[in-house]
Amino acid sequence: MWQLNEAQVELQDRVRDVAMAKVRERVLEVPDCCDYPADLFAVLADEKLIGQEIPTAYGGHGHGELEACLVTEELARFSGTVSLMSAYVSLVAIPIMVAGTEEQKKQWLPSLVSGERLGSYALTEPDVGSDPAALQTRAERHGDTWVLNGRKKFIGNAGLARTYVVFARTGGAGARGVSAFLVDGDSPGISAETLRTMGMPGWHLGAPKFDDVEVPHANLLGKEGDGFRIAMQTFDRSRPVVAAQAVGVAQGAIDLAVDYAMRRHTFGKPLLEHQGIQFKLAGLEASTAAARALTLQAAAAVDAGDPGATKLASMAKLIAGDTSMRVTEEAVQVLGGNGYLKDFPAERMMRDAKVLQIYEGASEIQRLVIARQLVKEASGREPVWPECMPGTHGIADGTPVSSEDEQGQAEKSDVGARV
Ligand SMILES: Cc1cc2nc3c(=O)[nH]c(=O)nc-3n(C[C@H](O)[C@H](O)[C@H](O)COP(=O)(O)OP(=O)(O)OC[C@H]3O[C@@H](n4cnc5c(N)ncnc54)[C@H](O)[C@@H]3O)c2cc1C
Repeated sequence: MWQLNEAQVELQDRVRDVAMAKVRERVLEVPDCCDYPADLFAVLADEKLIGQEIPTAYGGHGHGELEACLVTEELARFSGTVSLMSAYVSLVAIPIMVAGTEEQKKQWLPSLVSGERLGSYALTEPDVGSDPAALQTRAERHGDTWVLNGRKKFIGNAGLARTYVVFARTGGAGARGVSAFLVDGDSPGISAETLRTMGMPGWHLGAPKFDDVEVPHANLLGKEGDGFRIAMQTFDRSRPVVAAQAVGVAQGAIDLAVDYAMRRHTFGKPLLEHQGIQFKLAGLEASTAAARALTLQAAAAVDAGDPGATKLASMAKLIAGDTSMRVTEEAVQVLGGNGYLKDFPAERMMRDAKVLQIYEGASEIQRLVIARQLVKEASGREPVWPECMPGTHGIADGTPVSSEDEQGQAEKSDVGARV
């Protein structure tokens, strides 16, 4: 059984207390768009609820993704947006952790983790989301300066951020032509249009444009051509945290639905005494607990440097995202008509849950990643039932397949996709 240690339980309790006292009521007042609730971000910074996995030398807490997941889940129980504010700092910081030089880490991380500078992780573009190896924003080198040109879309904090991690093409087509840059948000040539979202009220989302933005060569992250690898290594670490957001949103919806069902009466007794409602809530609780277990397992694998972490991170995001969507939809149902009203947080939770199946790789892309890892694992071992394999004899009775045919099928399959 998964067992948190004493310090982790204390952290969880502390975040819950902060969320109850300083987040719960305040989020009810946050408009859907587009007024960034800076006071809530200040609560996170003051209470030191950001940068769990960033080493103390750079202003963080020196913990791991497991602690980041615990903090994120507790915040998400009350507000998807506030959990995103915390998790997003890590999304911007992780590429610097993964690929930055000592100077870059010292220069860029402390101001992100303290909340002094907002950050943006700028990968997605208007024409390129699931397949970032095809991105089009360009960076050209002129001596010791790179010049960035292009558009991004769906970028958190765009226009507010003072630290951007921007992925841009520096070479030919494909993943190897992508590089990553640290860009000062105050640089001339950056502008951003604000986007309106379905959920995550108050979250600032935008479409930034880079017009001849000059970036010193010293701000290249890793080597030229490392950008795609940096983006993927970042997702391995950040996807369990998105899964934790999903678990938190689901648990928050269950908390609400149970409280409501205890007090609402139909047919002469509380809703919660009707077996149909009990069974529904029991199923939601069990699914959420399963999603949490997978999420924490994925985070622990990341922290341990386990080579299976990529698959676990994608499985956690897939399962937790889908669970969150189903649980929040059912919670709206338990509240009946009140579930549909803006006066109750159930509908907000449902809208927040939707994006957890989309950002940092939509559910379909998680399936591609899991399938690719499955194939890799199976290719590296003997079949478990060799006597039943097609082309041998017995149960499967398959038409023998030549190795050339198999090669052709693998190349045509989506499983070969790079994401
Ligand atoms: C609120 C929000 C915040 C975001 N924040 C950021 C951010 O800060 N930084 C950033 O860089 N990006 C961010 N994103 C972008 C997000 O990561 C992308 O929207 C996501 O990766 C999907 O890309 P897309 O929208 O271009 O969809 P597309 O790539 O156009 O895909 C459309 C649909 O087709 C599916 N699909 C695509 N290819 C395949 C395939 N081969 N097989 C089966 N199905 C497929 C996808 O899963 C998806 O359901 C954010 C998005 C949202 C909505």
